Amino acid sequence: MKNLQSDLLTSPYASTARRRPRSRTMVVMFILGGAILLAGASVLMPESGTGHASNPMALDSQGDSILPAVENDAAENFIPLELAAPHELEEEIWNTEIFVRQGDTLSRILKRIGMFGALSGLTNLGTDSEALHRLRPGQKLYLRHSEDGLEQLMLRLSPTEKIYYIRSDHGPYIVQRALLPVSKQQRQASGSITHSLSVDGDRIGLSPGLIDKLATIFGWDIDFSVGLQHGDRFSLIWEEHWVEGNYAGNGDILAAEFINRGERFRALRHVDDAGRIEYYAPDGRAMRKQFLHAPVNYRRISSGFDPKRLHPVLGIRRPHRGIDYAAPIGTPVYATASGVVNFLGRKGGYGRVIFIRHGSRYTTVYAHLSKYASKLRTGSQVRQGQTIGYIGQSGIATGPHLHYELRVNGVYRDPHKVVQSMPPAKTLNGVEKMRFLRNNATALKLLEQLSSEAVAHADAP
Ligand SMILES: [Zn+2]
Repeated sequence: MKNLQSDLLTSPYASTARRRPRSRTMVVMFILGGAILLAGASVLMPESGTGHASNPMALDSQGDSILPAVENDAAENFIPLELAAPHELEEEIWNTEIFVRQGDTLSRILKRIGMFGALSGLTNLGTDSEALHRLRPGQKLYLRHSEDGLEQLMLRLSPTEKIYYIRSDHGPYIVQRALLPVSKQQRQASGSITHSLSVDGDRIGLSPGLIDKLATIFGWDIDFSVGLQHGDRFSLIWEEHWVEGNYAGNGDILAAEFINRGERFRALRHVDDAGRIEYYAPDGRAMRKQFLHAPVNYRRISSGFDPKRLHPVLGIRRPHRGIDYAAPIGTPVYATASGVVNFLGRKGGYGRVIFIRHGSRYTTVYAHLSKYASKLRTGSQVRQGQTIGYIGQSGIATGPHLHYELRVNGVYRDPHKVVQSMPPAKTLNGVEKMRFLRNNATALKLLEQLSSEAVAHADAP
């Protein structure tokens, strides 16, 4: 077998190759049931004349080259983390770096660099070859080759994942995926509302994604479209992700506060045993609420959600984009979730109808009413389960019933399916609540501090 050393001496990385035999570290994370374990793996580089290393990804039993473990248990990672030690990417030995250009395929690239012989070996690896079939312009391929051909190829699948194709002693390529350690840094910010959450969030440097996360957390309690008031305040603590010293996006919001019309809402992140993330108030109640299954104690569903229904009155095929609940005239109709009335009045075939907005994503519609609850107006706040009107037959209807719709981001959805897809968020108690409070003690303290500083700042002359 050709000695790798001589090739390395001709490469721009030759100096690295003169070092003593050493282990090269790659951090490989194995994802097991949500927990990410780190294991060090090393590639032994030979001093000379012994051929290239076999079993290049062998575990390093010495453990001396394992990078500092990166905190990955989301529930336990509140302590600010140091940046991980510089990853050894720079020291991996590649002869060639290739930028994937518009119209490039692996076969074109290999042809271009005279290594077409490697094509079949790289593309017969089933799903492991997919990344090579789907090269995108701007991606980079890293190659190590000798006179025997392509020894190793690496490309990045994402900012945090690399895939290696390594030629084994026997010929075929073996595939290794490496998740790069993500180090997390805590950030914090406070702001106040002068225009809207998006404008004021942007003003203090929050990304649109982060603003979205904040609105989603509080969206069940606060109407961000029409319910904000000048002087409302918010504070948040979130995680930033860093990979190999580069910013790699925002992680979760860890804790946040929103003071809306004088009412204070606080939310803390909790990760349950199954790894699901949910936000809870400090008293253990979930921030995410659930829609009631039905807006009425109904006798029967007279017509379900059906995109292809033949309309009973109009006699034409027209989607039925809600659920009809048949019940006697005068039966009370409840708001299925807390929100703000954003329309109340007559509207075409709907007859007397109420639209309620729930946070920034959801709207419910209650049609064919005989009358509205007294004092209910456009702009009224309603609580979940509150009576908002009474069943009738106004608009286009064959008999007394409630026509109920649930729209998500303006799109008509089957209310039953939406409710089913949102498992109820429980209230934390017992051991889990203790764990939640323990894990969030620091975050809560920091949030309180942030909140009072924001007040002091706002009150300053
Ligand atoms: Zn209907």
